[in-house]
Amino acid sequence: MMEQLTPHFCTTSIYDLPFSEFWEKGYRILFCDLDNTVSAFDQPLPEERFLNWVVERKNEGWEIYILSNNGKERVEKFCRVANLTGFSNLYKPLRFRTDQIVKEMGESPDRIVFIGDQVFTDVWLANQMGFLSVLVDPVAKGDLLKTKINRKMEGFLRKGFTYGKNKSW
Ligand SMILES: [Mg+2]
Repeated sequence: MMEQLTPHFCTTSIYDLPFSEFWEKGYRILFCDLDNTVSAFDQPLPEERFLNWVVERKNEGWEIYILSNNGKERVEKFCRVANLTGFSNLYKPLRFRTDQIVKEMGESPDRIVFIGDQVFTDVWLANQMGFLSVLVDPVAKGDLLKTKINRKMEGFLRKGFTYGKNKSW
């Protein structure tokens, strides 16, 4: 169980990741959680810094998708401005929706990096799927109510993680 909840890589934010190292290992696709990973949970639109990040990654050749448990309206509005394809109502950590997305893309899990801010949704899903799992610190201090409960439990686990690699990949 611990193995399933341990991220491959831990970092402070999406702005502090070794993308060239991921690329060398054969990864080509970035699946990003939305709330508190690429944006504060209560900010409807992407900030300038994230828009620049998207352009930089795309220029490097990465494909980027947003995979969120949040609703369609929130995800579509954000993605329209960021010029990204987004998927809402993912039901992370359940894998059925993500399985469907990967299948429809005709992609292989070993080309996908999943970046998220929560252990019990993002990391757990990514590890089940065979993606490279990346855990970032949450962008904002606040959370939706259901997330607050997960955070309590997550706090214990996070204490056991170190920034950088947490297991081999
Ligand atoms: Mg999140």
